Amino acid sequence: MCRELSLSSREYEIAIVGAGPAGLTAALYAGRAMKRTVLLEAGIPGGELLNTETIEDYPGFASITGPDLASKMTEHALSFGAEMVPARVTAIGLDADGRKRIEVEDGEPYFAQAVILTAGGQPRKLGIPGEQEYAGRGVSYCAVCDGAFFKGDHLAVVGGGDAALEEAVFLTRYASKVTLIHRRFEFRAQPLLVQRARANPKMEFLLDTVVEEIVGDGQRVERLSLRHLSDGASSDLAVGGVFVFIGFLPNTGLLEVHADHDAQGYYLTDQNMQTSVPGVFAAGDVRAQLTRQVTTAVGDATTAAMAATKLVEEPVAVAATA
Ligand code: NAP
Repeated sequence: MCRELSLSSREYEIAIVGAGPAGLTAALYAGRAMKRTVLLEAGIPGGELLNTETIEDYPGFASITGPDLASKMTEHALSFGAEMVPARVTAIGLDADGRKRIEVEDGEPYFAQAVILTAGGQPRKLGIPGEQEYAGRGVSYCAVCDGAFFKGDHLAVVGGGDAALEEAVFLTRYASKVTLIHRRFEFRAQPLLVQRARANPKMEFLLDTVVEEIVGDGQRVERLSLRHLSDGASSDLAVGGVFVFIGFLPNTGLLEVHADHDAQGYYLTDQNMQTSVPGVFAAGDVRAQLTRQVTTAVGDATTAAMAATKLVEEPVAVAATA
């Protein structure tokens, strides 16, 4: 049975933090369940979709651009009544009465009975000399955003996962050549993506190799200092730019209280997507799981929104299944 609620303008039943595919899906389901729902997002909705050229593994769309899918998801999510508010969340705390207090950069906090964390993450950095100095001046973490600035250049891509292989092939449309530099001989990426990259005549591979320094002329990147791991030999590679795709760091630092997480900082959840903090759910790239696809993000978020809805309506029933 629904509880009678008297809610002020910043009080919601469900608050969702981050409007990527997981946040948008959670908003869709929470809105459709007629819960008073706010979706807090600092930037443009879409999350990692906005950094992805083409998606061809989202059922129902043989091929769709990331931004197109983001805009379709946003329109659909908000059609059921969830409110999207532009706000950068800075902290999430628990009040004594169990309400979640969501602090934002500019303005008063929001309050909710349940929170769904869908804030995604940040690209992992190499942490080598020159990386920070040349960020935006030849060092990039987004091929879709920056690829077109490198027409005719020889580019390097660092990484051996799905993102590196996929984005390296994307960059061949602009670059004269793309050298993929990976620290092992084996790839973490799906075999299909490796096969496509290997078949591309503009692709070249430097395996068992790490980048030790990004060197430039003070204005732009000019070359990479490399070390080959098996024999320890060093070499230089002249490039116009370097794209780094070595994984993701989840945005899991907002909670003021401890929530269980794995060694990489991803939240551990139960089958309802509830973290170890009652009433705090996690979905998408912030959650520990085998893979991080758009499909898994929307699946997680569906469960999280249904469980959050149930918790708002019947708190005892959800606590008992956790
Ligand atoms: P990832 O799968 O974690 O792969 C990261 C890659 O970077 C690994 O090859 C790793 O090497 C390498 N690496 C990590 N730290 C490094 C360092 N300090 N120096 C050099 N290399 C380093 O990350 P991702 O490719 O960003 O993918 C993240 C998630 O998104 C995955 O679950 C992936 O499946 C998913 N995704 C899917 C698609 C798709 O299906 N189309 C596209 C993009 C991303 P090691 O292998 O040696 O550890």
